[in-house]
Amino acid sequence: MIFSHAGIRIDWRGSSCPERAIHVEIAEGSPALERPGALAYALPYQGTRIVVFLDRLRNIAAPSTVPSLLGHVIAHEVTHLLQGVVRHSCSGVMKAAWNADDYRQMRWGVPLSFTKEDLLLIQLGMQAKPFLTSTD
Ligand SMILES: [Zn+2]
Repeated sequence: MIFSHAGIRIDWRGSSCPERAIHVEIAEGSPALERPGALAYALPYQGTRIVVFLDRLRNIAAPSTVPSLLGHVIAHEVTHLLQGVVRHSCSGVMKAAWNADDYRQMRWGVPLSFTKEDLLLIQLGMQAKPFLTSTD
């Protein structure tokens, strides 16, 4: 839903995910010293893998908010990979750290949005990584 506002369709594949697609790993019991404070990470300069620390999401959000927060965290990290750069915006999905208003919006089921710069960088990044737009 977050990406549909950006005109992007996500094709979830499960275990049959192609090798060069974006792989999302949901981790539990993340070590405190591994990327302290981060809810997830992606390495846009090295590959197409995302790791989400689900236990940390559960620690900061009410159970009813976790699914929406998880969607936003995955969208944020996927966007880093699509853009191919580590950068953040002043508002929306690509904010470096969401505040109470952002979490409230998620809790209400209203997706955070992308800025114009986010959308432009997604387009440019996808042109540079055509394998991410493959449908096979
Ligand atoms: Zn980020």
